[in-house]
Amino acid sequence: MIRALRVREHEAFPQVYVVEFEDGSERLATVNMAPGIKVYGEQLVNIGGKEYRIWNPYRSKLAGAILKGLKTNPIKPGIKVLYLGVASGTTPSHVSDILGPSGILYGVEFAPRVMREFIEKVAAYRTNVVPLLADARFPSKYAHIVEAVDVIYADIAQPFQSKYVADNADMFLKKGGWIMMAIKAMSIDVTKAPSETYKREMNELEQRGYKVREALHLEPYDEAHAFVVAQKT
Ligand code: SAM
Repeated sequence: MIRALRVREHEAFPQVYVVEFEDGSERLATVNMAPGIKVYGEQLVNIGGKEYRIWNPYRSKLAGAILKGLKTNPIKPGIKVLYLGVASGTTPSHVSDILGPSGILYGVEFAPRVMREFIEKVAAYRTNVVPLLADARFPSKYAHIVEAVDVIYADIAQPFQSKYVADNADMFLKKGGWIMMAIKAMSIDVTKAPSETYKREMNELEQRGYKVREALHLEPYDEAHAFVVAQKT
C-alpha cells in the first residue's frame, strides 16, 4: 500500500483534509471520530498522532462535489444536520467526522435492513449520530425528535425529491440555513434527460422559497448526478 506522507487542512472547509501520498497523489480525508473503525472499506492513515479516513469521491457525492470545486460547504464543526437517506453511512460517517462531538447528525432512512447496517457501523460508535428509521416524505413523524437544524442534506433519489426536501426544510431548517441535495436524474424520472430533471428539481426549490446558490455536475465521480446547494432566506 502506498504510504501517506503529509496532511493539510482543505483551503476552504474546516475539518476536511487533504492527505499527500508518497507517489505524489492526494486524497480527501476526515479525522476518524471512531478510531480503528472503517465504514465502507476506506483506508485509515495515521499522521501526527491522528487517524484520518480517506474519503472516496466515487463513493460519496459530497466528496465528489468538493473535488468538483464546490464553493459553499456549510457543514462545519458543531452544527446540526438533518440527513435524509443515510443508507449504510458512507457520506454520513464523514459528515459526522466533520461535525465532531458538539455537532449532531439526525440520520433518516426508511429501509430497515440498511438502517440496521447504519446503526451497527456508524451510529454505535459515534455520539453525534441519531438514527431515525422513518420515511423522509413524512417529516411530521419525526418532528418530536429533530430540533431546528443548520443544514439539510438530502440524497433520497425519490421522484419529486425537492418537494419532500422543502417539506423538511419548512419544518426544521433555521432561517439562513442550507439545503445540500444530490439529484439522481435517472431515478427521479427516467423519461426526462438529466438536465431537464435538474432544472425541474431546482425550480421546485425556488418556488418553495429556497434560493439555489450553487449547482454542479458530479461527473466523472458520479454519472448523471447533480449536486445543489440552496439557502433558506
Ligand atoms: N447518502 C448516502 C451516502 O452518500 O452514503 C447514500 C444514499 S442512497 C443513494 C439513497 C438512500 O435513500 C437509500 O438507502 C434509500 O433506502 C433511502 N431512501 C429513499 N427514499 C427514502 C425516503 N422516502 N425516506 C427515507 N429514506 C429513503
